[in-house]
Amino acid sequence: MSFPGSLRTETTPTGRAAGSIWNIGLASAYCAPVRTSLAVVTKPRPLRRRARPLVLEQLAFELPPPSARWSFSRLVLRSPHQARIRERIEFVRRFFPELDGLTVRVGLALKRGVLGWGSLDPDRPGIWVRPRRIEHFTIAHELTHLLQARELVPRGERACDLWALARSSLLIDAAPGYLRMPRSLRRRSGPTPAEASLLWNAARRAIAAREQGDRRYLLNFEREIADAFARGPL
Ligand SMILES: [Zn+2]
Repeated sequence: MSFPGSLRTETTPTGRAAGSIWNIGLASAYCAPVRTSLAVVTKPRPLRRRARPLVLEQLAFELPPPSARWSFSRLVLRSPHQARIRERIEFVRRFFPELDGLTVRVGLALKRGVLGWGSLDPDRPGIWVRPRRIEHFTIAHELTHLLQARELVPRGERACDLWALARSSLLIDAAPGYLRMPRSLRRRSGPTPAEASLLWNAARRAIAAREQGDRRYLLNFEREIADAFARGPL
């Protein structure tokens, strides 16, 4: 699910706004130059001689902080599922080299029925995930929204699903939520490796077809998957 990108705040269980902590991510990208400053040291005054101020150059190192890959909301930092969230988003992010150098905000999606959110604001890259149900494919889908925000992927939820499927079959541990898929694919255990491979290959072919001018590439992808499943188990 995409998020248009207006400033978002989350509320703590006590009702106090956790606040928009986007600035943490932005601040970490701040790059301070190495500055020089002058320090004035005065020698002991010699007899009958006027002391001259001795000017020494002193280097003050202000090294920029390393750019953080993630900026976690307070709710994530307090969550007992934090370690699992970190491990999963790290794994998925390896397949998104376009996001290298970006600090991605990570929050919790608490709204009932929502698996996740992804920001469409290129200046505030962020994803919100569920603390318990956090599949690799959901994270891939939300990170693909960040690519849409950078105009690297066509807009729309179905396109977001398709481009997320085309990343890697290793990320397809759940059926896409917006593309029309065979019912048998929506089982709780997720697609089998053979089904994931089929989805990945078909998604790559659909994207290639779009590049050749096929405007119905999403519909054709859905039909190809439906036909493959209609022929029987993979
Ligand atoms: Zn979405």
